[in-house]
Amino acid sequence: MNLANERKLAAQAKALGESAEAAAFDELAGLVRSESALVRRLAASALGKLAGITDTAASVDLLCPLLTDAHPQVRQYAAKALGAYGTAAEKALPDLRDMFQNPAEKDYVKRSVRAAGKTIREALRIAEECAVHKCSRCSHVVAADEYARSMKMFQRVFCDHCFDETYIKRRNFDTRVEVQKTIRTKDGTLVQSVGERLIAEWLAAHNIAYRYDDRLRIIEGRQVRPDFYLPELDVYIEYWGMDTVDYKIGMLMKQQMYQHAGKKLISVYPQDKGRLDEVLGGKLGLVGGIEHGGDRQ
Ligand SMILES: [Zn+2]
Repeated sequence: MNLANERKLAAQAKALGESAEAAAFDELAGLVRSESALVRRLAASALGKLAGITDTAASVDLLCPLLTDAHPQVRQYAAKALGAYGTAAEKALPDLRDMFQNPAEKDYVKRSVRAAGKTIREALRIAEECAVHKCSRCSHVVAADEYARSMKMFQRVFCDHCFDETYIKRRNFDTRVEVQKTIRTKDGTLVQSVGERLIAEWLAAHNIAYRYDDRLRIIEGRQVRPDFYLPELDVYIEYWGMDTVDYKIGMLMKQQMYQHAGKKLISVYPQDKGRLDEVLGGKLGLVGGIEHGGDRQ
């Protein structure tokens, strides 16, 4: 390329950068492929100035290949320009990182590369913070704390309501307990097993207030959904109805968790079904203080 032609194209690239016209993109798309490094550099610089005016994705696509240009100043201006595209330039991050780590890369190029990478990552962080997150189950917009909780627990976005629902499902799946509560107690509570029905009816018969499968409680930083909670006595009752190895391991872990947290837990096993007066009455310290087997009806 003769000098006059190079000067003409260089001036053209510069003017396009100042034009603030989206239509400048088409000409710049030709100029970034110029055989003159000066022209390629000025075209890259122009694309940086036109960030937000030209087609964003197409401009990033033009700039990315220039990061591996033979001329360091072209690489430098391509990096600078990409920084102006913020989140849209996310795909340039791996190349920018490679350039920064390349021992052969020029220091002045690395400085521009580092600044561009920082800008793009910061833009991504801000976008993430400002993003509206919706529950993946019911599509309600979730609050920041709901988002944090559900991401930590499930690596998915759930509102608190769906969080609870999902937690129960998972717990029931874990312990292979039937999800459906199909057994009705005398006071109308639907429970999951005969053992739970007998416990509920025993508590009701002794006028002990209880909440069945009520809501999540935090014990030792973990969420637990106890079978029964007796609010007046601050006591938990778990009915351990299964006999598989997995279930028993889960049971022991859960029992330890209650113990570590200093919570009062009464464990009821299938073999206790016929002697709830002894097990529940005894452990609740109520023997003698209550009417045995009393039925309010
Ligand atoms: Zn939801």
